[in-house]
Amino acid sequence: MKEKIYTIPVNDAFAESSICPICSLKNQLNSQLGAYYLGASLMEPDVRKTTNEKGFCGDHLDQLYHSEMNRLGLGLMLHTYLSGLSDELKVDLRNSLPGRRTGVFQNRKKDFRQVLKQAAKKLQARTDTCVICDRISQTMNRYLEVIFHEYFANPVFRGHFDQVKTFCLPHTAWMLNGAADHLNQDQVAVMMGALVETQISSLEKLTQDVEWFTLKFDYRNHDKDWKDSKDAIPRSITRLKGSTSGKGSD
Ligand SMILES: [Zn+2]
Ligand SMILES: [Zn+2]
Repeated sequence: MKEKIYTIPVNDAFAESSICPICSLKNQLNSQLGAYYLGASLMEPDVRKTTNEKGFCGDHLDQLYHSEMNRLGLGLMLHTYLSGLSDELKVDLRNSLPGRRTGVFQNRKKDFRQVLKQAAKKLQARTDTCVICDRISQTMNRYLEVIFHEYFANPVFRGHFDQVKTFCLPHTAWMLNGAADHLNQDQVAVMMGALVETQISSLEKLTQDVEWFTLKFDYRNHDKDWKDSKDAIPRSITRLKGSTSGKGSD
């Protein structure tokens, strides 16, 4: 029996979500973690140690700032993060510069390009890390294990999974990758077989809806019914890139 903290949200998302259930799980996790890092945890030394080391990516900094939950807390976290970062970068950035050449053969530094690139790489690595992204990725991996476990152990979950028409394409890829890592051949044939067929038919339907959306601009179709095409463009975008807002159901 997998831990309930993972099975309950997974079952709920597949039973209730009108968007891609994996996007729904991820969005939920994202807002919980945003609230966590701006909540009481930010004064805990262990948490501050991690936020000082990893910081946040641009998307999560925007999210934390625009949530307007605790701007003082965000300021305190950013202050200690930036202090550590600027101490470290000061040295790295200065060391990355060659001196000016003083003559044809004097002070020539052959590897200056490599040194610059190394400094750029290190800076990039420093700004790429994010404590929230890391935790989302860890929990999503647990959710993935639960999804595969529940599918073969829980007929109710399996019924819900087989009915999902709204997996976004990034999460369809995520599921296929996960299946390659976790399932045997027969399990892949059953579970991914269901997923692939549902996705193909719902993508075909979406394509027809978008086509009808474009045909509605023809004056001859002006008075005809929109059918399912009115929101076909936002639904396509959500299908192609995933949903971050909980809107755009298919
Ligand atoms: Zn998704
Ligand atoms: Zn992030």
